[in-house]
Amino acid sequence: MAQIIDGKFIAAGVRAEVKAGVQKFVSEKRLAPKLAVVLVGDDPASQVYVRNKERGCADVGIVSEVRRVPATLKQAELIDIVRQLNRDPGVHGILVQLPLPAGLNERLVMDEIDPGKDVDGLHPLNMGKLLRGDDSGFVPCTPQGAIELILSTGIEIAGKEAVVVGRSNIVGKPMSLLLLQKNATVTICHSRTKDLGAVTARADILVAAVGSPQIIHGEMIKRDAVVIDVGTNRVGEKLVGDVDFDSANERAAYLTPVPGGVGPMTIALLLKNTLKAAKLLAAKNS
Ligand code: NDP
Repeated sequence: MAQIIDGKFIAAGVRAEVKAGVQKFVSEKRLAPKLAVVLVGDDPASQVYVRNKERGCADVGIVSEVRRVPATLKQAELIDIVRQLNRDPGVHGILVQLPLPAGLNERLVMDEIDPGKDVDGLHPLNMGKLLRGDDSGFVPCTPQGAIELILSTGIEIAGKEAVVVGRSNIVGKPMSLLLLQKNATVTICHSRTKDLGAVTARADILVAAVGSPQIIHGEMIKRDAVVIDVGTNRVGEKLVGDVDFDSANERAAYLTPVPGGVGPMTIALLLKNTLKAAKLLAAKNS
């Protein structure tokens, strides 16, 4: 049986640290860190994620402002909102909730976010910094959280075979780079990978970020691997991961549950990134 990695508990520790950092920031600067979230359209999942982000902010003393705008918004209008937030000295972090409705170009919007306020880490400057191994930028929250969960097991990442399934800009690619930075030997799989199970079975550390319910089964997992399930898939009323929990539980040494694994860490790291942005901005203006 695997040891279950308790993302809720570990995230609570991160949030407590951020809360203390926010209190110190407020007492020194006489203003609270502020996160602005732009929510375009009425996608139900996005609405839930944004509500959770608002709650997370309130919990640690970060002020949040959600701009809810209709899906009919034009590209230029969205860019205008981002530019306003860039200019607003009271806003430290900006997050445009993805995915955007059809017709809006995510890449162009990400390009507009001030890199110093880009708490989702999707501006090309921040992605470039991650590629260079320069930690002065912002790293996407989910892979940052996933790394923390791996570290929580106490296993040494250096020298391990790590396999990341998925190559999105928000999860798979940054996850692979973070593992590489920690000296793992990294393989990235995607929809064109031949014989996925043969590749995943080599992994001492396996990260699944596909968005396909239970695509990873026990027989695809190396015995005693660390398995991080990023997948969040709604199947009927249930939320399931990309990993089949029961069969993975028979093989892995450590395993994250869904829900209660990576999800809570994503929010916690967003709060951490927002505090970092507030500190950087304050240092720049002092
Ligand atoms: P994307 O859809 O952007 O990327 C999915 C990736 O999986 C792509 O690279 C795709 O390959 C790959 N893929 C698809 N099918 C297969 C297959 N059969 N075999 C191997 N690879 C495959 O998703 P995201 O990265 O945004 O999200 C992934 C999952 O993580 C989703 O379930 C999402 O809900 C969840 N998520 C959870 C978060 C959390 O906080 N817990 C935060 C963010 C995401 P290709 O590039 O070739 O198309």
